[in-house]
Amino acid sequence: MKYTTKALHAKYPKQDSHNALRMPIYQNAAFEFESAEALEDVFCGRKTGHAYSRASNPTIEEFENKVKFITSANGVIATSSGMSAITNTLFALLKAGDSVVTTNKLFGHTLSFFQTTMVDFGITVHYVDICDSNSIEDVIDDTTKVIFFETISNPELVIPDIGLLSSIARKHNLLLVCDSTMTPFYLFDSKKYDINIDILSATKYISGGGTTIGGLIIDNGNFDWTTYQNLKKFSDGFGSNAFVAKLKKQTFRNIGACLSAQSAYMLSLGLETLALRADRTGENIKALASFLSNHEKIKSVNYPMLDGNKFQKLSNEYFLFPGSVLTFDVANKSEAYKFMNSLKLIRRSTNIQDNKSLIIAPYHTIYAEYSVLEKESFGLREGTLRLSVGIEDIEDLISDISSALDEI
Ligand SMILES: *Cc1c(COP(=O)(O)O)cnc(C)c1O
Repeated sequence: MKYTTKALHAKYPKQDSHNALRMPIYQNAAFEFESAEALEDVFCGRKTGHAYSRASNPTIEEFENKVKFITSANGVIATSSGMSAITNTLFALLKAGDSVVTTNKLFGHTLSFFQTTMVDFGITVHYVDICDSNSIEDVIDDTTKVIFFETISNPELVIPDIGLLSSIARKHNLLLVCDSTMTPFYLFDSKKYDINIDILSATKYISGGGTTIGGLIIDNGNFDWTTYQNLKKFSDGFGSNAFVAKLKKQTFRNIGACLSAQSAYMLSLGLETLALRADRTGENIKALASFLSNHEKIKSVNYPMLDGNKFQKLSNEYFLFPGSVLTFDVANKSEAYKFMNSLKLIRRSTNIQDNKSLIIAPYHTIYAEYSVLEKESFGLREGTLRLSVGIEDIEDLISDISSALDEI
């Protein structure tokens, strides 16, 4: 079975008591038990069952079950947001004194999490050139546990050499953790590239209509936890499920950043049409990238599929297509703002991978708190615009952009 058939027909092992054809929204906090013994059995893990929705809930489990079936993962945990998926994963894997290797080419709030929260909790973070093996190997020492990267960085659209990262991770027995939000599992098979933990913001392509904040932690089941000291207790008790067990019985349960049943329902619905919507954005973005590249008022266009883009080869190798976000530059801030304010269809908004096309000037918004030098190092300029391409009819998108460019 391929993506959409799987998303529609994943088997959920528990029959709904009314035979609902779609999993209902179990919007309740607690579940009751027939006997004191049955309650004890679930609490002690002797029987599976739901006791309290912060730990598990049928609607959330059905969403996780679908993702697990689609990705052939070992385990999937849905979380309240993409950020909480990242937080839970790193808090489950690391402790004070450990170090992580990553890059500064990261989504803004992920970078802020590494630069502030992780540091406050005693974790050292090394920012390296993720495309250069020497730069990575130079910082690896006994304290290093994790390499973290984004499949395509947002908004600079840097694509790391994942083959290189996986060989370094294997050589030093490190966990390879990626944020694949820009290229979810329909576009990219993280298991095929030896990635151990795949994290996504489900808020983006999966929700589709920008309906819901949510996140996913996917354990590909390809790491030997017996070699990983921080999870020793869990690998002794749960073997290949050590990571999921630590999340469920400790980190995820204790942090409490669970999804709501209502949100799980929306995300489960979005999952079913992901391929249809993604394919449509893929056609639209190709047409727009080419239109913008040929327009005299545009200084440059950044989309990995374009000829001359330095990541074109890696992009073709890894992804069905490199997502629905591109950036382009006009001369300066005043042109960028004039252009944005002249758009009649495309919305001024911070989200990505919505059904609607969205635009933002990241230099002046998402990255406003960074210095000029830092912003330059992220590849941002005053006239950089990030466009997330939706599923509108392409003629209407081109006409909107074309008229707005006439205004500058
Ligand atoms: C949006 C985003 C996140 C954060 O996800 P939320 O659901 O907003 O918490 C993390 N990484 C990337 C690449 C994102 O685009």
